[in-house]
Amino acid sequence: MAKIKAKCSKCNGTGIGPKVERYDGCFEICSRCNGTGAETIEYSPFIVRIERNDVKEVRVKKASGVLCNYGSEDKIVSYKEFLKIKNWPEYLYKIRKKYAADSTIDFPD
Ligand SMILES: [Zn+2]
Repeated sequence: MAKIKAKCSKCNGTGIGPKVERYDGCFEICSRCNGTGAETIEYSPFIVRIERNDVKEVRVKKASGVLCNYGSEDKIVSYKEFLKIKNWPEYLYKIRKKYAADSTIDFPD
């Protein structure tokens, strides 16, 4: 795990917590960062997409959003095909743009 020093998410980096009732303009010290304004976040750096051995197929939706129905607007691709496509955001954008214009199109190969 890698660590990074980030702005405290509770006090937004101010080190100041909630207002003290009864005293005008008086506030608590932030209980998350103890007044420093910073917190240490642990994370796993991304290096490469990790392959799984339990996936046979992946369902790809031709349309996105709340109006998307399951079924006819889906395509099932093998996991091998999924792995071949490196830029999924771009691929999804292209097929969804085409599908929005013509719902009879199939996926590009
Ligand atoms: Zn804080």
